[in-house]
Amino acid sequence: KMEEDTVHFHEMGLDDRILKALADLGWSQPTLIQEKAIPLALEGKDLLARARTGSGKTAAYAIPLIQRILTSKQTVREQAIRALVLVPTKELGQQVQTMIRQLTAFCSRDVRVADISGKADISAQKPILMEKPDIVVSTPSRVQAHINAQNLQLQTSLEMLVIDEADLLFSFGFEADLKSLLCHLPKIYQAFLMSATLNDDVQALKELVLHNPVMLKLQGSQLPDSSQLQQYSVRCEEEDKFLLIYTLLKLGLVQGKSLVFVRDVDRCYRLKLFLEQFSIPACVLNSELPIHSRCHIISQFNQGFYNYIIATDEQGLENPARHSQKTPEKGKKKKKKGKDKEYGVSRGIDFHNVSNVINFDFPASVESYIHRVGRTARADNPGSALSFISHTELQMLAEVENTLTGEGSHDSVLKPYGFKMEEIEGFRYRCRDAMRSVTKQAVKEARLKEIKQELLNSEKLKTYFEDNPRDLQLLRHDKDLHPAVIKPHLKNVPDYLSKTQRQIDRQKHFHVCFSPDGAEKLILTSFKVRIQM
Ligand code: AMP
Repeated sequence: KMEEDTVHFHEMGLDDRILKALADLGWSQPTLIQEKAIPLALEGKDLLARARTGSGKTAAYAIPLIQRILTSKQTVREQAIRALVLVPTKELGQQVQTMIRQLTAFCSRDVRVADISGKADISAQKPILMEKPDIVVSTPSRVQAHINAQNLQLQTSLEMLVIDEADLLFSFGFEADLKSLLCHLPKIYQAFLMSATLNDDVQALKELVLHNPVMLKLQGSQLPDSSQLQQYSVRCEEEDKFLLIYTLLKLGLVQGKSLVFVRDVDRCYRLKLFLEQFSIPACVLNSELPIHSRCHIISQFNQGFYNYIIATDEQGLENPARHSQKTPEKGKKKKKKGKDKEYGVSRGIDFHNVSNVINFDFPASVESYIHRVGRTARADNPGSALSFISHTELQMLAEVENTLTGEGSHDSVLKPYGFKMEEIEGFRYRCRDAMRSVTKQAVKEARLKEIKQELLNSEKLKTYFEDNPRDLQLLRHDKDLHPAVIKPHLKNVPDYLSKTQRQIDRQKHFHVCFSPDGAEKLILTSFKVRIQM
């Protein structure tokens, strides 16, 4: 990253007010996508960028938007909506607005931004649009509604269009709205299309909105490199997965906020109920929960209320055959249409400061692996990913390895997590004890109970996202779901087992000191180890 030929922000011909904002943000240099996209965008090129969240993609298009608006305001002073940013979710809308506000901190009067993706009432938003903010951020359906209500007129003034997370716009069913609103745009405008994947839908959209676009498929940008993101795998079969997660969490071998991914909704509750036995609280996040609950869970997670979230990814993994390499898109689409269209835990919704991603069950596609693991090591933060691999998951692990390993490199990307399962044998009895309480029936009841609870919460939460009242902060999503069966004695680690803990600590310490390739030093920073004397 520190190569000499990096183009720096101050070499891009940006307005001083933008440079000042960048300095205030503490961004010393552009991310890869910013370095490539900003100069091209400033030349007036249309762009199609393959970019994941966390790559700095928002600023990659926001900076040229702001620059162009500042430039055109030197000659045309009339206030008008000059740029439209389309997003698939209100969370992303909010994030984009926040980012643009930060970047325009020193020119907020010249470049005004309004996010209209969130609030429910169309007529309440009319006054905002009457003021003609320079940049409007919204979902396609909202824009279409405003066009229909004649609150919004883009035909004459629009200069730039951004479609962010284009692939998700399609999966969330915004296709029709998107197409119809394109008819209300002027003939000529500059367009940027950002998408994590370049599937057929995105290709079709490219034909519709882009003119001679520059394609940015940034190599190596799919996941950060190993200096920032450590990826590990550990072989373990079904029962051992539970044993391992229990000891990792209970002994503090995994530190910081963690996302634990499992293969289906039942398994979310199985794992939650299992951890409950040991008084390890965790939230469950899946497509069954109402959208408001999900957003609230993530926002509380971001605020530090919870350390662990147990999640499924939106593709559902019950039927891996449908997600085989050749037909990933088809399988995905079918699945999604039936489910909540705004669901995208491992995709669009932004988690903050995730230290670890744990694949309790390995994902069923390479794409899903990249999206899950991409939740950590965002921007310049370090992160780690640990995948539990049973014998049935070995094949998929090999596929992930194949994709992630660069050409000519023989090193595997997922390093073996040096953990001796024998060392935690002493915990097996307690683990089995806890697993026995988590019956099929208990899982079923917990799942039902939580949905009921969250549907009630959801009503209250609707207003939360509108006015943010303080008391709703107190609403929690990590309560015990099956308190009756919790055995108090499982809460603490007994004396005869703390010996095991000391052994593990020593084992780790040993690794840290003597590892020939330095990999275990990384365990110290990510899966931090408590050294007990
Ligand atoms: P995004 O990919 O737009 O969701 O951005 C991910 C995160 O990276 C955001 O929190 C940004 O604030 C941060 N970020 C973006 N660009 C830079 C940069 N050049 N230097 C440091 N952090 C950045």
